[in-house]
Amino acid sequence: MNETSLEKVLELIWTMEDENDSVEEDVLLKGINLPEAERQIKTLIQEGYITIHNSKVILTRKGEADARLIVRRHRLAERLLNDIFPVKGDTMNAGACKFKYFLDKEVITSICTLLGHPLSCPHGKAIPPSDCCEKASAKIRPVVMPLTELRSGEKAKIFYLATKHLQRLDKLSSIGLLPGVTIQLCQRQPTYVIQMGETQIALDTAIARDIYVRPV
Ligand SMILES: [Zn+2]
Ligand SMILES: [Zn+2]
Repeated sequence: MNETSLEKVLELIWTMEDENDSVEEDVLLKGINLPEAERQIKTLIQEGYITIHNSKVILTRKGEADARLIVRRHRLAERLLNDIFPVKGDTMNAGACKFKYFLDKEVITSICTLLGHPLSCPHGKAIPPSDCCEKASAKIRPVVMPLTELRSGEKAKIFYLATKHLQRLDKLSSIGLLPGVTIQLCQRQPTYVIQMGETQIALDTAIARDIYVRPV
C-alpha cells in the first residue's frame, strides 16, 4: 500500500471530523470506497494514526497533526493553482492532488506567505493555519484598511470609498459597493475578486485600493 493512498484516507478522516464532528467507521469505509479500505484502516491503527472506539474513528495526536498538514497542503495548493495559474475546476482539483505531494513544510510556509496567509481554499473550505499565519495576524493591523490588505477568504464591511474619480465612484455605487455592505475577498491574484451576496465581482488593483474596509 503506498503512502499516497494512506494520506488520502487521513485527509478524508480529518475532513469528515471537521464537517460532522465524529466519524463512524462504516461511513468512512463507504467514503474511501476501495477494496483495500479495511486494510488501510488497519494500517493506520497499527502505525498509531487512528484509534477506533465504539465504532467511531478517532485521530491520535500524531494522526491529527499529520492530517492537518495534509489538508493544509492540499488547500494551499488549490489556492496557488487557482490564484497564480489560470486553471479552474476539474483541472485545478486534479492539479492540486498531484501537486501537493511535492510540497514539504518549508515550501508550504513560503507559499502561504506568498498568498498572504489565505483563510480558505477556492471552494471556501478553511485552510488550517500554521505558525506563519499566526505571526502574520499578530502584526498590528489598522482597523480600517484598503481591500487589498485583506487575506483571501476574509470578510469585511465597506467603510468608505476613497476614490477621487467621480466616474469610478458612480460605477462602484451602481454595482452596490457602498459603505456598510459586507463583502468577502475570494482571491487576490491575478485580479481581486470579491463576493457580495450571490455576486462575484472582479476589481482592478487601483480600484481595490480605493475601497476601505473593516474586517468582520
Ligand atoms: Zn478546496
Ligand atoms: Zn501562513
